[in-house]
Amino acid sequence: MKLIVVMVSMIGLQSALLPVQAQTAAPAGSTAGAFQADSVFFRKMADNVLSSPAAYENLRVLCKTVGPRLAGSPGMYKSEAWGEKAMKEAGSDKVWLQECMVPHWERGGTDEAWYSYKDEKGKTQKIKLDVLALGNSMGTGSSGVTKKAVLVNDFDDLEAKKDQVKDAIVIFNNHFNPRNLSVGQSYGESGSYRRSGPSRAAKYGAAAIMIRSVTAAQDNHPHTGATSYDTAYPKIPAAAIGLKDADKLISLLKSGAQVSLYYKSNAKFYPDAKGHNVIGELTGTEFPEKIITVGGHLDSWDPAEGAHDDGTGCVQSIEVLRALKAMGYKPRHTIRAVLFANEENGLRGGNKYAQEAKAKNEQHVFALESDAGGFTPRGFGFTLDKQKLENIRQWLPLFVPYGVYQFSNGGGGADIGPLNRLMGTPVAGLSPDGSRYFDLHHAPNDVFENVNKRELDMGALNMALLIYMIDKYGL
Ligand SMILES: [Zn+2]
Repeated sequence: MKLIVVMVSMIGLQSALLPVQAQTAAPAGSTAGAFQADSVFFRKMADNVLSSPAAYENLRVLCKTVGPRLAGSPGMYKSEAWGEKAMKEAGSDKVWLQECMVPHWERGGTDEAWYSYKDEKGKTQKIKLDVLALGNSMGTGSSGVTKKAVLVNDFDDLEAKKDQVKDAIVIFNNHFNPRNLSVGQSYGESGSYRRSGPSRAAKYGAAAIMIRSVTAAQDNHPHTGATSYDTAYPKIPAAAIGLKDADKLISLLKSGAQVSLYYKSNAKFYPDAKGHNVIGELTGTEFPEKIITVGGHLDSWDPAEGAHDDGTGCVQSIEVLRALKAMGYKPRHTIRAVLFANEENGLRGGNKYAQEAKAKNEQHVFALESDAGGFTPRGFGFTLDKQKLENIRQWLPLFVPYGVYQFSNGGGGADIGPLNRLMGTPVAGLSPDGSRYFDLHHAPNDVFENVNKRELDMGALNMALLIYMIDKYGL
């Protein structure tokens, strides 16, 4: 009797001494017992991922030995070889390349811009602008263009000024709204000028456009990113300006000064190139024909290393395979890590993956993407049946100790969107803290040094935990 009392009090003490995280790992209420084994598995998985150098080292090699890897560039081929090797080293049962034709756009050297105006003493001032041509944009030809600059605040203002923009370079004053709680929303709003600004201005005869870089960063790095043209209008050159330079130019234009702007870009398209999605898988032991996909995109913009966008998503996806394999976990379903080709300026890889899945009548039960930066994970956003989302929200208390506190309605990723649209596959996206993402997104400072190992690993860990739960319990 006495012995039992001692044992009980020891257990009580032991649990009091456990770290807070371990105590809260079990879900509250009636689900606690059901998920006890999972709570233990989560802890072991955390030990494995957080003490492994693999994901961070993979990212270092990708950033420092491959670097930029836009579709069709030499970097693309180097990155495919890197991905294939990394998938094998992670312990994949099978690794292969899925061919897809990709667009091949090149910047063609350094983009140049400067503006000139007469100051209050009548003296001509000439000021350089830090710019990057928008991805997929047309160049100006090697001699560049010189035109008057016209400030346009938004698309309504463009309509009001449609008679003034003919043969001018339109400067869009597309602010990144700091009041939105979701930075993604600000990106979407400000980014609409990057995506459709050129054709909207070309409709009224503009010669070229420039936008404020789609960021709230406090530095002057210009941020590129894809634009697209409406074939109904001429394809005019387009560039993004670093925010400090943009602020100066825009305040000058607001003062009523007559400003002449020079812009030169040698950007152009070459014939489509042969690219590949890189795929590795752990073959399912119970339902090998049912597939769970986890991925990121392998391509990245030319001025940087594509560290957060989306090197982190690639190495996190590979880490999911590595960690499950290293723990001796035998997945019931086939788990595939996919490094998608050409997300940035074409989405051909994501489209190809879904088209082939449909053509082969594959069964895709779930797909997860990480393409919002390798920052501290906060949650996952899901696009799936509401009832299914309610069901899996029971798992959330298991994730809280590892930093994920939200399973929100809505989310996914550009590359897995086609799976959802073509085959109705439920999808989700990792939602890391977004505060710093747009400081470096598509800009020269998106480099390895700006990725924190622990933040990267915490994202990979939560992805692996989610994949494990879906593999074990289904949706
Ligand atoms: Zn991306």
